Amino acid sequence: MKTKISGITIECMRGDIASQPDMEAIVNAANAQLRIGGGVAGAIHRAAGPGLEEECRPMAPIKPGEAVISGGHNLPNKYVIHCLGPVYGKDKPEDKLLADCYRNALKLADENNIRSIAFPAISTGAFGYPIREAAEVTLDTIKEVAPALKNVKTIRFVLFSKGDYEIYKEMIESIGHGAQK
Ligand code: ADP
Repeated sequence: MKTKISGITIECMRGDIASQPDMEAIVNAANAQLRIGGGVAGAIHRAAGPGLEEECRPMAPIKPGEAVISGGHNLPNKYVIHCLGPVYGKDKPEDKLLADCYRNALKLADENNIRSIAFPAISTGAFGYPIREAAEVTLDTIKEVAPALKNVKTIRFVLFSKGDYEIYKEMIESIGHGAQK
């Protein structure tokens, strides 16, 4: 599923965030210490190799809503942007903190001349953010920041489960009113 906002392609697909070789950057749903963990952080660090943790160590800890950038190491991507999402029901206001993740990640991407970036559904795994609520915050944030982006041309959402993919697909369709599939 694809649509366009302010000249930027917005797409979603089912898959593994660590297997997106055509994207210049991928986003990590990181932990505060920027260490290997479960879920997305586990998949990314395993594929990148130990050099990623080593590069990240001096940048840790990060706070909810914050984003930092590193190289891709053994990943097929040039960069990894690490975001710490809010823990649902604990880090408040969670919608603002989740929006900050996407806003800060896209700002870093744009500043680093990154043209294509893939995001997982930050906070919707171990951090417990309900997927539909998270998708609404995410897409509202994308709509808000897209007009200011100069270098980013493709934003991809990579969803692990079929149900999560269906929710994103429906929301992206409603933004584009089904145009430009
Ligand atoms: P958080 O701690 O921010 O909640 P998780 O990594 O636990 O992050 O999960 C975030 C989302 O990513 C969840 O919806 C989960 O199903 C999904 N996910 C887990 N592994 C992968 C992967 N390899 N690629 C893409 N999405 C993944």
